[in-house]
Amino acid sequence: MLRDHPTTGATSITFIEPHCPPLYERDTPAHDRYGRRIDYLRVSLTDRCNMRCVYCMPADGMQFLPPPDLLSNQELILVLSAAAAAGFRKIRLTGGEPTLRHEIVELVRAIKAIPGIEQIAMTTNALRLGRLAAPLKAAGLDRVNISIDSLDARKFRQITRGGSLDDVWAGVWAADEAGLHPIKLNAVVVRGMNDDELIRLAALTTHYSWDLRFIEVMPLTGVAGLAEEGVISSTELIVRIAAHFGQLESYGQGSSDPARRYRIPGAPGTLGFISAVTDPFCATCNRMRLTAEGRMHLCLLRDDEMDLRAAVRAGASQDEITQLIRHAVHLKPWGHGLPEGVLPTLRGMSQIGG
Ligand code: SAM
Ligand code: SF4
Repeated sequence: MLRDHPTTGATSITFIEPHCPPLYERDTPAHDRYGRRIDYLRVSLTDRCNMRCVYCMPADGMQFLPPPDLLSNQELILVLSAAAAAGFRKIRLTGGEPTLRHEIVELVRAIKAIPGIEQIAMTTNALRLGRLAAPLKAAGLDRVNISIDSLDARKFRQITRGGSLDDVWAGVWAADEAGLHPIKLNAVVVRGMNDDELIRLAALTTHYSWDLRFIEVMPLTGVAGLAEEGVISSTELIVRIAAHFGQLESYGQGSSDPARRYRIPGAPGTLGFISAVTDPFCATCNRMRLTAEGRMHLCLLRDDEMDLRAAVRAGASQDEITQLIRHAVHLKPWGHGLPEGVLPTLRGMSQIGG
């Protein structure tokens, strides 16, 4: 059943009857109607989190999914097997905080065993990585992105509403030791919040061979006001960093890597700038998202979704779910509508996974 969302007009698709006929050519990997190859799935394992970052969640009033609403491990493996058959090759586990997911190590091992899945990464706040990094690596996790927005313990606690910077560093070192390379650090930069730490953050790459990525704050539900006032363009960040370290060396950009990459001359690490707001990269988008309750979210900054859980719980076969996923890929919108003032309204970032 295909219908428009009553308030937003976004596409909302529910398949009550899973036994639908094949809709699309079995090209592997799947391409959307604009010819983009879609092979990267970001999977939210939970909408819960052990922090409350100011740019991600409101201080209170969050409603979390009751556990039965989440895809079970078995359901998730079925959906990811179907996604692999539709051509998805790379999985990123995210959330909420993915390390809070019950039996996360066993889940990683099961995902890694799915034929066709070539790479598993995780985006994490690293609070629990100190003890989980080694078992996750042993289970098949390839690498991690760790969020770290401040190098000052007091400010870090304020931004995350309670997070411990010491625990994050323990997670970073454990990830490094476990070989979860290359280590990427994500920093969301907000004017007046942490832009005074820009140079200190960038300087990390002069000591360590890490990729530090600066992310423009995006106006998702719950934080849109902060994003409107606080967004700093990547161009401004590059100018400010170059004013301190000298002209940055361009380090290129992968075909579907949203980050423009640079290097401080002589540094072992790199800097990446992700400018979804001021310089969108929709033309090279290769990704879709799966929410914790099993909805395919077609574009990060739009509300369009397809409910796969309904099909799974109605008894759809893996082949039928693969067809639904191909359909979702086909329906993926061209890009977001921020320049026209179209904002996503149904979910916050913690309910999608970034
Ligand atoms: N809890 C994990 C973490 O923080 O890394 C994973 C989930 S978090 C939603 C994924 C990424 O989204 C993080 O790098 C976070 O910094 C980023 N993020 C959250 N809210 C954002 C916003 N409004 N704009 C841009 N990035 C955001
Ligand atoms: Fe939690 Fe990650 Fe959102 Fe911070 S950014 S509140 S750590 S989900």
